[in-house]
Amino acid sequence: MTGTASTVKTRCALLGALVLSLVAADEARAWPAPERHPPTMRGYRLGPVEWEFLPVDVGARHFRVMAFDGHVHSAISRDALHPIAELMWLAERKDLDLLVLTDHGASSARGYLEREYRGPVETLIGEEVGGSFGHAVVWDITEHRGISAAVADSMDALGTLVHGQNGTVVLAHPGWWIGRNTWDPRRWMQYDALRRGGIGQQIDALELWNQVYWERSRELIDEWVGLLERGLYVPIVGNSDFHRAYSHRLGDPRNAMLCASDAAGAITQSPSECLRETVRSGRLYVTEGPSIDVRLADHVPGEIVDAIAGTRLAAEVRARSEEGGTVLVYLGREVVARVPLAPGATVEHRFTLAVPQADSYLRVEIERASVPEDRPPFSLLTNPIRIDVLPRRTDGWRGPDEGSIPGPPGFSRDEVGRRDRARAQRRIDLRPAPRKS
Ligand SMILES: [Zn+2]
Ligand SMILES: [Zn+2]
Repeated sequence: MTGTASTVKTRCALLGALVLSLVAADEARAWPAPERHPPTMRGYRLGPVEWEFLPVDVGARHFRVMAFDGHVHSAISRDALHPIAELMWLAERKDLDLLVLTDHGASSARGYLEREYRGPVETLIGEEVGGSFGHAVVWDITEHRGISAAVADSMDALGTLVHGQNGTVVLAHPGWWIGRNTWDPRRWMQYDALRRGGIGQQIDALELWNQVYWERSRELIDEWVGLLERGLYVPIVGNSDFHRAYSHRLGDPRNAMLCASDAAGAITQSPSECLRETVRSGRLYVTEGPSIDVRLADHVPGEIVDAIAGTRLAAEVRARSEEGGTVLVYLGREVVARVPLAPGATVEHRFTLAVPQADSYLRVEIERASVPEDRPPFSLLTNPIRIDVLPRRTDGWRGPDEGSIPGPPGFSRDEVGRRDRARAQRRIDLRPAPRKS
């Protein structure tokens, strides 16, 4: 099965090379030759660039994995270095299928990509914005006008504008409290913020893993798991926040989305549709190398299994990592399977799970065999497969709409936005909210 995936990749690469060679004469000046480093990356060492994902076929359902980095800056951002053409050169070398360009402010990348780029990497235009919530990346937008005004107003206004364009809103690096900002972005990850009616209700996903701001990843995961335990689910993503090749690694980590495909592996959705669907549902995993296929009763991450308490469900995991490591399968906070990985080998593990008495979720982390000092202790995180213990949940996974919720002191929908800037900094209140009985 991995043979099929690599054949598809090879075909894509050959097609890409053919297209490149056909347009090479016209674009010799605009486009760096594939073998030669572009001017801003002279001497840059690419490192291993072979990425191969385990295919995921669940009965009659087929998925093809497409990898994207959703937080990337080109020289359009004042603090980043590389022109778009050179960034795209690197994206191809890094084996990315899709790149979302998230420069600060309106992006002139769109024109360039439409007119000049002929390579194999799909692109979507987004933007990184800063407001009272810290930073957010918005993905797949067609119109930048009005975004700054919305950001200055509130996360709600931003979400309304972006969703009106069929775009996606992601809370960026919530582990980084930006200097001079009033609020710790982690407050936007609290239950009362993310639930329906809360000030962060429009946030589609959390960038829990950011290459640059990774130090608080473990705490953020704990807080996210706390939300899951209370029945509030917002999917996670991971991105590089790439600014320059010498200090950042494009595509580390990347999101492996499970895009609907036919039996031959051809994608039946556009990249834009797949991104919207997989990010909002969480049908993706975040990885810095390893590949995984995890299922529970024929459901994949981002999906919901309806189950009866006390019955048993079949679970299976296939995983591969060039560096080895250990697969940890969590049911709630408990590790229910621990599978060692031999470097470069695909490992399979099947087991059954007793359905707990209350709603729960299954998710996977891969623990690194050895941890470099500039990386988190894990090399892969999946979104959860949720277990909805019957009777079925009727209030969704973001709670009932209770309107504007006061939440922690000083944290209400009325108090964020424009007026935040004048407020004194407050410390984050991380007391767990009371559980429902
Ligand atoms: Zn940022
Ligand atoms: Zn950024």
